[in-house]
Amino acid sequence: MTQLEAAVSDTLTEEMREAAQLEGVDIGKVIDAIKAGKAVLPRNKRHFVKAPRVIGEGFLTKVNVNVGTSYGYSSMEEELKKARIAVEAGADAVMVLSTWGKTREIRQRMVEMLPVPVGSVPIYDAAVRALETGRKVVEFSEADFLELFRQHAEDGVDFMTIHVGVTNRSLRYLKDSKRILKMVSRGGAIIAGWMIVNNAENPFYKYFDEVLDMAREYDVTLSLGDAMRPGAVMDATDPQQLEELFILGELVERARKRGVQVMVEGPGHVPLDQIEMNVKLMKRITSGAPIFLLGPLPTDRALGYDHVAAAIGGALAAYHGADFLCYVTPSEHLSLPTMEDVKEGVIVTKIAAIVADVAKGHPFAIKLEKKMAQARKRFDWDEMFSLAVHSERARYKIEKRPYVDKGCSMCGPFCALKIVEDYLCAEEFRPV
Ligand code: SF4
Repeated sequence: MTQLEAAVSDTLTEEMREAAQLEGVDIGKVIDAIKAGKAVLPRNKRHFVKAPRVIGEGFLTKVNVNVGTSYGYSSMEEELKKARIAVEAGADAVMVLSTWGKTREIRQRMVEMLPVPVGSVPIYDAAVRALETGRKVVEFSEADFLELFRQHAEDGVDFMTIHVGVTNRSLRYLKDSKRILKMVSRGGAIIAGWMIVNNAENPFYKYFDEVLDMAREYDVTLSLGDAMRPGAVMDATDPQQLEELFILGELVERARKRGVQVMVEGPGHVPLDQIEMNVKLMKRITSGAPIFLLGPLPTDRALGYDHVAAAIGGALAAYHGADFLCYVTPSEHLSLPTMEDVKEGVIVTKIAAIVADVAKGHPFAIKLEKKMAQARKRFDWDEMFSLAVHSERARYKIEKRPYVDKGCSMCGPFCALKIVEDYLCAEEFRPV
């Protein structure tokens, strides 16, 4: 039984119980959301997820991290370390997107090691295999699509991105479209290239029922990829993006009917004024499916600071209903992230998620904000550090320039909180 089937038959699972506890919500809320397809609980039957997460409407905004080797640069130990750092920094899920070296071994070790859900993009492996045997990245067989999906499921991957919404019809229109950047999705481009070379339909689309059977067997949550996501703010919300969304909306229904958990991926690069509309449209077309976003980046010009741009877009998107934010690092669009980039990316994305959760009034987020305000009032630095998103940095900053009295060295004797405590809150003060 999948988590969705369990919810539909009102069967409580251990994962639901743990996810509810982590959120500080009633288990009934978790079961109802999964039953309605408005939340997912990614957990492959072969992976013991120590800290299961419920992703969807009404729950805390979750943060995903991408790790994995890259072409010509392959250090398994380094990627494993990045994943560990990411989880310590607060990542709720890790996608293993290796494109070089021992991709299967890395994936298996991640699944074994990580306490959070693990995701992957199975089609990358087909391209890696092709490249490593001297072929082009799109030269592989139709059978590879389904075989690799099964292999990843057997390896215990909890959620998988499949770029199923790119079809022959959409490619026909894409070529002559006004888009500046035709396609920026790596998986989407590999599949599109394969379709063109083989003059064939997207196998994930053609054999979607078979994909569903496998996903159901292992309880793999499908993440319907957005191959047609805009890769530039100037291309946002165009017909190509919307056509794919309508296809994904239909596939969401088919997945739910088969008892398969499903979420939908979204853009990409979107100007700030179009973010609310995009998120609401996605929710409407997919009947409330959980939304997984990369960014969105509201400007293309923040190179080196794309994590900041993504956090601005991500906070707004999450406020309007996005459920799962994929982190962006300072290296986005430039190079493979370093360990420090990974940490920075997680923390900044986490801040975007918190900002949205506070604005949405999630009880857990509100509780922590209240505790922080009280700790600040009491000058309780230890409590403040424990509540800080990145306590290590907060501690470092205060230790760098210590101050002996109450307050910090920012205002020193002019500390407004201390002045208020001494005078406004003093016993002897009686307002006239
Ligand atoms: S010194 Fe200034 S910044 Fe520091 S705690 Fe007091 S009011 Fe806040």
